[in-house]
Amino acid sequence: MEIKKENLKVLFSKDQLHARIKELAQEINTLYKDEELTAICVLKGAVIFATDLIRELDMPVQIEFIRLSSYGSSTTTSGKVNAVDIKLPDLNNKNVLIIEDIVDTGLTAKFLIDFMHLNFHVKSLKFCSLLDKKITRKVDIEPDYYGFDVDDKFVVGYGLDYDGYYRNLPYIGYIE
Ligand code: 5GP
Repeated sequence: MEIKKENLKVLFSKDQLHARIKELAQEINTLYKDEELTAICVLKGAVIFATDLIRELDMPVQIEFIRLSSYGSSTTTSGKVNAVDIKLPDLNNKNVLIIEDIVDTGLTAKFLIDFMHLNFHVKSLKFCSLLDKKITRKVDIEPDYYGFDVDDKFVVGYGLDYDGYYRNLPYIGYIE
């Protein structure tokens, strides 16, 4: 590990994250009022966000997990999305909410949205990301819901890793 926890600057504190997640959940609760929802958590990065978010949701929720990877160095994405593990139940006629940690180039989001439409006739499909890094976008895609904008920083914590570490930090930090 090249970076030390002491060298991380806090970008979003634990309290800021929790407050914003409650707001997002309220919006989602309003949209799916009286409906059921299938939440799809994109491993590994979205796991902390997804588990906090779904606990704020009021409707009956099923949760599924999928794993993708986009190989690159510790702080860059390669631009190529690989499906490592996508085993999903029948999602035809379901309300599907994809939960992601960050939309960066947008390639992962595009891959997932295309995948859902290719494989299922869903009732509705929404994409919710904790963070939105618009400045590095390569494809024309926007999350339906997102927590915070980030500029061109490599962020870690609250599910997001540096070389596999720091996902356990309760806040989001960045490396200067
Ligand atoms: P995409 O470029 O396809 O939008 O994002 C692919 C993945 O790259 C994200 O799901 C996330 O796991 C990772 N990623 C993008 N930006 C960052 C970042 O600033 N920090 C960390 N830890 N991962 C990132």
